[in-house]
Amino acid sequence: MNKTNLDIIIIGAGPIGIACALECKKRNWNYIVIEKGALTNSLFNYPLNMTFFSTSEKLEIDDIPFISNNPKPTRNEALEYYRRVATSNQLNINLYEEVSSIDKTKNNFEITTSKSHYKAKKVIISTGFYDIPNLLNVPGEDLPKVFHYYKEAHPFTLQNIAIVGASNSAVDAALEIYRKGGNVTMIIRKEAIGERVKYWVRPDILNRIKEGSIKAYYNSEIKKIAKDKIIIETPNGQKEVPNDYVIALTGYQPNFQFLEKAGIEFSKDEKHIPIYNPETMESNVEGLYLAGVICGGMETHKWFIENSRIHAKMIAKHIENTIIQ
Ligand code: FAD
Repeated sequence: MNKTNLDIIIIGAGPIGIACALECKKRNWNYIVIEKGALTNSLFNYPLNMTFFSTSEKLEIDDIPFISNNPKPTRNEALEYYRRVATSNQLNINLYEEVSSIDKTKNNFEITTSKSHYKAKKVIISTGFYDIPNLLNVPGEDLPKVFHYYKEAHPFTLQNIAIVGASNSAVDAALEIYRKGGNVTMIIRKEAIGERVKYWVRPDILNRIKEGSIKAYYNSEIKKIAKDKIIIETPNGQKEVPNDYVIALTGYQPNFQFLEKAGIEFSKDEKHIPIYNPETMESNVEGLYLAGVICGGMETHKWFIENSRIHAKMIAKHIENTIIQ
């Protein structure tokens, strides 16, 4: 491959980066996807036993059928699907190569990675948001017993576990750990379990809290993490709770610094939404496109696979009219 004469570079091989690669391949464009981790690295890092809230056909890209055993596929089935899409279409994907900078020159973009340098006429950023956790910023957060990702319940059996957060991820982890014999305490900043928690899971968590199997502190915040306990600020004053592990599932955020360095501008409010044309997905930098969940800024729930897979076709259509062959 000639690295200095590419039509398109796609950064990130998540579902949406793969969808963009399919569109490039169909048009015989000279493209490459550069991914810093494994293929679909975010999905690979999801909890081992997670089930998607979407049905499988809503996760399909380019109408390639996604067959799953049940209407809502598991993590493993999704990994299998996107792996098969990438390999059977022989997409050009470089794995374990991180893009560190994107520089626009007069005629093209120069891309620097952990392994090489590239030049391309257009760049699509589809880097998602799953790499940078929203921190609690409390003393003790750097202890090795504190996690910002949850994988499986087994290590937490017979242990005192604090789960911070009340979203789908927090609720799934709380229920799974409780059912594998962990003693779970949830620390919830608001007055209720999150509104977007899957409708079939919500009654389960509410009933476990009601019967006292899982302890929940509402309107509460964790203040300090020590080796064997945590301090929680509750509406009834501070509580000291014995603790072995803290799992803080308080969301993640896009790499804003990376986007800023590439010249992308943002909305001035706290949502920090990158500037792009919603009809073409082109950012404020000409020839630099945004695709997938990255488009939501701090509103990480706004875009997901179901509603952002269309970005690939929108971008391809726009590039089709502008690319210099
Ligand atoms: P990602 O999948 O995050 O892919 C981005 C890729 O870019 C990653 O592989 C990352 O390693 C790579 N990358 C980042 N920075 C760089 C760099 N500098 N250089 C190279 N590569 C880089 N959505 C649904 O539609 N339905 C669901 O049911 C659903 N369930 C979910 C359940 C959970 C627990 C979570 C966390 C999310 C869920 N989502 C769901 C959301 C969905 O997974 C994301 O919307 C989806 O992953 C977005 O795809 P993407 O390609 O935009 O980003």
